[in-house]
Amino acid sequence: MATRIEVHDATRLRWARERIEVASSPRQMLDEVVGAVVRNATWRGSECLNLLAPEAPMSPTVRALLSAEVGQRAAEGHIGPEQRWFAGTRHIDEIEALCVELLKEVFHADYADHRLVASMIGNLTVYTAMTRPGDTVMSLTQPMGGHSSNRPDGPAGVRGLHVEDVPMDATELTVDLDAFADSARRLRPTLVALGASMTLFPLPVREIVEIIRPWGGRVFFDGAHQLGLIAGGQFQDPLAEGAAVMTGSAGKTFSGPQSGVIVWNDPSLTEPLTTAIFPTLAATHQVNRVAALAAAAAEFLAFGEAYMAQIVRNAQALAAALEAHGITMLGAHKGFTRTHQAIADVRAHGGGLKVARLLEGADIIVNKNLLPSDTSADWDRPGGLRIGTTEVTRWGMKEPEMELIAAFIADVVLRRRPAEAVRKDAIALRRSFPSLHYCYPLAAGAAPAL
Ligand SMILES: *Cc1c(COP(=O)(O)O)cnc(C)c1O
Repeated sequence: MATRIEVHDATRLRWARERIEVASSPRQMLDEVVGAVVRNATWRGSECLNLLAPEAPMSPTVRALLSAEVGQRAAEGHIGPEQRWFAGTRHIDEIEALCVELLKEVFHADYADHRLVASMIGNLTVYTAMTRPGDTVMSLTQPMGGHSSNRPDGPAGVRGLHVEDVPMDATELTVDLDAFADSARRLRPTLVALGASMTLFPLPVREIVEIIRPWGGRVFFDGAHQLGLIAGGQFQDPLAEGAAVMTGSAGKTFSGPQSGVIVWNDPSLTEPLTTAIFPTLAATHQVNRVAALAAAAAEFLAFGEAYMAQIVRNAQALAAALEAHGITMLGAHKGFTRTHQAIADVRAHGGGLKVARLLEGADIIVNKNLLPSDTSADWDRPGGLRIGTTEVTRWGMKEPEMELIAAFIADVVLRRRPAEAVRKDAIALRRSFPSLHYCYPLAAGAAPAL
């Protein structure tokens, strides 16, 4: 018999197989699926302190629109009666046009596209439209915060690009501009991808635009994490600083449905970027998701600035409190962070994997994270933790609650207080903030039953 090759954990798959085998009917199998969803909703949705930087709770309207009737409709193509394959798209055109115009409004951009089912696809769109196989691009390595989507193992690699490293200053956590200028003048990259998954401080977009301009090089800002901060005016505005194009994840700080956004100002990019999206990389693009994205953009116009400002204040307060407890935090000499993230160096406490697991036992959810000092050997067991404040902020928590959360974390990591005891405190804190802030109440007509 041929050996089975699975990348997934064999124990988890065996568990599912057994549940399916003992089920007496497909109905019971369905109940198994729903049961797991409900268990997650109870635990992660109402008990945990969710501090994962890529997560954000959607507003009631955004969440309800994800199950809207329109999610069953097909609408390939560009907006308009002649550019679609299918008839019956009159109101879908309205939804999509509203989404595009709201995205332009929120990002102060001349052009936007709404059809990216993931920001990863947005990055592939950029590489498809703006590079040719064999070109050189530069991006941040993963220990410096870079993401696989801009590295050889992601879309940049699929496009057949030569990927070189943007030199970084590991203490200042920003680009080493002198070293960058030397490498870039030698390598003459077509694109320089800036933006990172570990992101504490702004990057020198203007300076890099100037350095690479002589040979027609352009800056691509991957704002996956910072998208909401940018829309809320709490971070550098990459397009205004000269980036040619920006992508981002709609479900990270932007707090929309998990998917992608792309914006640009240069009219000559419209044709290549939009034709890379359709017909190359997107077909059925989930119009329910587009409706939810449009609603998230509208709510951002009303609440984004206050919401994002509090996220950053909370991240700064959390980082400062953790450092005061004796946990080493990155960027301490620069005020810790200008984003929704705080990065802890927990090598002295067993490393990121061990500490993240300990905290999970106390219903405090964070992720292990590579540190600038980590090497490829440390990939699975990196030295750091990434802690994000988006969700706890939307539940209404402010600086005093960040002090409490820091004390819980210190209890687990430094004082080895039993996780079960800390868990009770974490649940109590979460339950004392039962409603979402920075959004409108559920819009009439958006209820799931429709
Ligand atoms: C999360 C992330 C992505 C991928 O975004 P998805 O929306 O998850 O596809 C791309 N780039 C960076 C820097 C990221 O952090």
